[in-house]
Formats: sequence, C-alpha cells, structure tokens
Amino acid sequence: MKFFDPHVHMTSRTTDDYQAMADAGIVALIEPAFWLGQPRTGVASFKDYFSSLVGWERFRSSQFGIKHYCTIGLNSREANNEALAEQVMEVLPLFIYKEGVVGVGEIGFDDQTPAEEKYYRLQLELAKEANLPVQIHTPHRDKKQGTERSMAIALEHGLDPGMVIIDHNNEETVKSVLDQGFWAAFTIYPFTKMGNERMVEVVRQYGPERIMVNSAADWGISDPLAVPKTAALMKMKGISDEAIRLVTYQNALDAFGKSGQIFEEEFGGEIDQSQKFNGNTILRGGQQPRIDKDSLFIN
Ligand SMILES: [Zn+2]
Repeated sequence: MKFFDPHVHMTSRTTDDYQAMADAGIVALIEPAFWLGQPRTGVASFKDYFSSLVGWERFRSSQFGIKHYCTIGLNSREANNEALAEQVMEVLPLFIYKEGVVGVGEIGFDDQTPAEEKYYRLQLELAKEANLPVQIHTPHRDKKQGTERSMAIALEHGLDPGMVIIDHNNEETVKSVLDQGFWAAFTIYPFTKMGNERMVEVVRQYGPERIMVNSAADWGISDPLAVPKTAALMKMKGISDEAIRLVTYQNALDAFGKSGQIFEEEFGGEIDQSQKFNGNTILRGGQQPRIDKDSLFIN
C-alpha cells in the first residue's frame, strides 16, 4: 500500500526517518509551518524557516523518493507576540503562492487568546483570497470548545468547509466536524491522547469519508510511521482495504489537492542522491549516492 502523511514536521527529523517512511510506503507528505519549541525573536527567522519548507526540506525529501508539500502560516502560540506577528503577516503572501504550498497552516488556537483569534481571522481571509485550503490546529486544552470556536469563525468568514481541514480530532470532536462538512484529521500520538486502536474504532463508527490520519511527528516524542502502522492495525482489525486507502492516502490528496498543487503522477519519482540543492547534497564525505531508476525501494 502507498500512504500520504498530511501532517509531519520533517525539519525536526533525521534522514533515517525519511528512509523508514519511504520503505513503509509513504510516497507524499505535508509539512505544516509550526512552533519550533522556543519563540522566534525576529521576522528573518520566520522567513528562513518558510524558505526551508519550500526549498531545502522539499529537496531533502525528494532524495528519499517522497513528494514534499507544505502549508505556510503563523502558528497560534507565536501569534501572541503581536509586534512580531504583524511582521510575519506581511511576509506570508510572499510564500503562500510558491510551488508546493498546499494550504495556509497550521493556524488556529492554542490558549484561545484574543491575539490568537485576531491572527487566525486574518489568515482565514488570506486563505480565502488565495483560494487555498486551511489546516487548523485545534488546542489540546479545552479541545471541544476550541474546535467549535475554530469552525464557527471559519464559517463566519465565509469559508467553504470543504476547504478546511480540522486537525487533532478525537472522539469528542469528530461528529460535529463531520456534520458541519469539514475534513476531520486525526493525529496518532504514541502513549497519550489518540492511540491508533482508538483510531480504528473511529473509522469503524464513522466510516472513512472526510477522515484522514497523520503522525504530526516533530521534535517531541512522536512516530513518523504512525500512518502506515495505523493502516496495518486497521487491516488486522478487519477494516476494508478501500476504507484504509481513503483515510491514509486518498482523502488527504483530495482535500489538499484543492490547492491545485498536487499531482499524483509525480509521486514515486526516481531517486538520485547525486543531485544538489544550491550546491549542497545530503551526502557526507565519502558516501556513495543512491541512484535508483526503477523503484522506490532499495535494499
Ligand atoms: Zn503540527
């Protein structure tokens, strides 16, 4: 089976992760712009980060045969530094129209402060103007309320729910998200929150329509193989192959494909690690490039 992980922060991961993801059948991924674990102090840091998402990281992923897309936005935590947030808003239009950008994200609420709401609303307008999907991070505290509020505001701004992916759902939020016509994404977190056995039950109960699974793997304890592992568990637990295909591949493609930036025929391109990006390769001195003209899998 082939997989699409629509939420994974590869900047924080190693080449071993890329290799393991490719070997497990991940052919495409989306890297949302997010919080790096400590606050940035200037707009130049944001610019360099956004540039890396459409540049170096996209290249690095290609060296393992995985098609890399990203979403660009101001994350909710850093929206609380209003002086900096204003400057970030000014540079966002320079990045959202670039090749490989499939949405505005991840945006939304963290602590549900007035500043978070202000920049969430501004970025919804930006997405509407650019006709791009929106990837919404829902808060981990007061999730139910934060999710409802995120959806109500998106509707208030006239967004088509079919263009909005609500992320980090759980059993308490999923029904309302689907009932209102939004896409419901689920992050599989090791040890806490949403484990993949619970995910199997969600798909059993609600079916596979408009549901997608992601790893949200980042610099914390997380699992970049969460999508293929969940697919395997679903198979063991008797979920149909077609339902598995929808929630681990096709629905992400359909939702973010509304950006007009995703071309399935480009997945699984040949690997040539002798390629360079601005003169730089992923190889270290003495390493031999892996060149494979036929297959994604090399042993
Ligand atoms: Zn994230």
